[in-house]
Amino acid sequence: MNPKPMVSVVIPVYNEEKNLGALLGRLRPVLDGLDRPYEIVLIDDGSRDRSLEILKGFAGEPGIRMVELTRNYGQHAAILAGFSLVRGEIVVTMDADLQNPPEEIPRLLNAMEEGGYDVVGTIRKARKDSVLRKIPSRIVNMMARRITGVHMTDWGCMLRAYRRPVVERMSACHEHSTFIPALATVFAKRVTEIEVAHEERHGGESNYPLRKLINLQFDLVASFSDFPMKMLMYGGVAMSVLGVLFGLFLAVARLVYGALWAAQGVFTLFAILFVFVGMQFFALGVIGEYIGRIYREVRKRPEYVIERVHEAEEVKP
Ligand code: UDP
Ligand code: MG
Repeated sequence: MNPKPMVSVVIPVYNEEKNLGALLGRLRPVLDGLDRPYEIVLIDDGSRDRSLEILKGFAGEPGIRMVELTRNYGQHAAILAGFSLVRGEIVVTMDADLQNPPEEIPRLLNAMEEGGYDVVGTIRKARKDSVLRKIPSRIVNMMARRITGVHMTDWGCMLRAYRRPVVERMSACHEHSTFIPALATVFAKRVTEIEVAHEERHGGESNYPLRKLINLQFDLVASFSDFPMKMLMYGGVAMSVLGVLFGLFLAVARLVYGALWAAQGVFTLFAILFVFVGMQFFALGVIGEYIGRIYREVRKRPEYVIERVHEAEEVKP
């Protein structure tokens, strides 16, 4: 009998000294129970506490691989670093703070293998985070849906499973700031979502203050759409048109009410100003459009990805 394909679990770690012991304590039995080969890839993302030491201690155990990064690159970059090393056919990502219960991994794998999916996303049932942490996520989720055009309910939950080809395609991208769940949808055909439990952070504090969340949000918007630039262009055009209309209105009012009306030309100046400011915005948008194109080129995302070539087998002469 063929053994089931290997599973790699990728976990970014940044200042999680209080959680690592408990994490492996819960993750190990779950993975042992899967009855298939597995590896746990832990990436130390430049932690400033004792996380690295603790991880080094684990590194000798079978099935555990530890990656040490030179500094803090951020959660998504750390996961990508893990992706470049994984050996499994199925790759599961999760957080180190036990907010994603390891016990959900078998369900994730089942969903993937039974449904033949490339990516299995997750929806956090009864999310255990503060309101201040939930509202920004809601906005992120909404924008991500718009931008990627993929209907995922919850983008932020990192407990996800990807098939190896999707992971390889993501690793091949040369992007500096990215948002992995969104990037995956660029390369995956069959995507699904399941509900998973969510827990309180085991120990320590969230590494995502508002500043980092805003950054992440900007990564998402800027890497996956040129919406902000388009806004500039549309806004500029709208402003110019309004300026012209205002000017026309002033001209008509001048004819009707005489020269004293409209503060002796001050209003007219405003109308002219609007037209020019609008044109400037538009021009900035056009420049932005070119920069956007350069950005897309530099990113070197593949233009297309072939899943498989279907053809009749070659007939031998
Ligand atoms: N993380 C990381 N680098 C960072 C920030 C976070 O590797 O710069 C890891 C962190 O150790 C955890 C995961 O990313 O495993 C999610 O972070 P956190 O729990 O702080 O985020 P939240 O749950 O508040 O979204
Ligand atoms: Mg967390």
